[in-house]
Amino acid sequence: MKILVINTGSSSIKYVVYEMEGHQVLAKGLVDRIGDPASSLTNSFYTPEEHKQKIEISIPNHAVGLELVVKTLMDPEKGIIKDTNEISAVGHRVVHGGERFSAPVVIDEEIKAKIKQLITLAPLHNPSNLEGIKVAEKFFPNAKQVAVFDTAFHQTMPPKSYRYPIPNWLYTEEKIRIYGMHGTSHSYVSKQLIAQLNKPVENTSVISIHLGNGCSMAAVHGGKCIDTSMGLSPLAGLMMGTRSGDLDPAVPFYLGTTLGMKLEDIDKMLNKESGLKGIAGSNDMRDVLEQRETGNANAILAIDMYVQRIKKYIGAYMAELGALDAIAFTAGIGENSVKLRELVCEGLGVLGIELDKSKNAASGSGNRRISTDNSKVEVWIIPTNEELEIALQSEKLL
Ligand code: AMP
Repeated sequence: MKILVINTGSSSIKYVVYEMEGHQVLAKGLVDRIGDPASSLTNSFYTPEEHKQKIEISIPNHAVGLELVVKTLMDPEKGIIKDTNEISAVGHRVVHGGERFSAPVVIDEEIKAKIKQLITLAPLHNPSNLEGIKVAEKFFPNAKQVAVFDTAFHQTMPPKSYRYPIPNWLYTEEKIRIYGMHGTSHSYVSKQLIAQLNKPVENTSVISIHLGNGCSMAAVHGGKCIDTSMGLSPLAGLMMGTRSGDLDPAVPFYLGTTLGMKLEDIDKMLNKESGLKGIAGSNDMRDVLEQRETGNANAILAIDMYVQRIKKYIGAYMAELGALDAIAFTAGIGENSVKLRELVCEGLGVLGIELDKSKNAASGSGNRRISTDNSKVEVWIIPTNEELEIALQSEKLL
């Protein structure tokens, strides 16, 4: 069975085609800068060996972008399908599923209407996700269209975790609550991590630490999320590349009333000009770590702040879980930065977390354990694979 996974952004379409038998990637690529004269499609085929190609062409909208992807996938020489009917399902990443969606669903008119209603909760993402669904329906009319929601994994949280201590009506009438994000990543990583433990799933307690441009953590008991660090939006929780993470809620009032800043400027500042960028001047962890090595005071402070917040959440989640079997690092920083993992684990012996420095520094790929043999809590690197998780969830649903 072949499944196409699509992640549609406002000006991009990322895609992967899987042969589900053996979870083999047949093709993957990116339609970039849709609507810009400098738009392009980059595609790679993986059979029999990798063949990468970039087409620079004006792509005015998502429909033209996907049409180009379809043509490429059906290329008479290198293509991996002869007919669009060979694609059994198209799995779509949908950022916000609100409270309505706690699992993937086959998309119909009612589901599309609901995703549209949820635009108020994800104004930057759900509109493009919906556009991706509409264009995929056009080009793959016989495939099942499946929506996999980024918030779904966190729907198992109890009310004490997902409610904000603000007046009840804001939840009952306006659905203002903690939803959490990166759910597809936390779902994939926690399942992979639990599979490494020699224990029945229901007795396991793990923490998934997703450190990319966006950063979040999830506390998972018995395979189910019980708490997560992002909130109503992806702005909450850990310090990130450009997002502030947790703040005293009075900070925006101060910025508005005392400094006279407009709401949209405060929003932009906290989402795009804060985090590592706000403190160290760059949102790229590699730059900040390099600057730290040269003794740059802002870079030193930024890393100290970044690491301290992760430690704080590890401690908090361990207390909530009441036990901890393992933690896993994932995403761009979590998977690649030896230094960051070392700094996070430093001094956590008190929680039973002991990193093996040489295992941590060893190059490798795939899931790997990096804690000492005596560490009470296992520490792992689990490379995330949101696309595969979407394909697997789509396959399971079919
Ligand atoms: P992601 O959003 O998962 O693609 O992650 C992006 C982040 O990963 C950026 O901040 C990159 O600087 C960071 N990153 C990628 N490779 C490394 C590395 N080798 N060391 C430190 N950070 C890295």
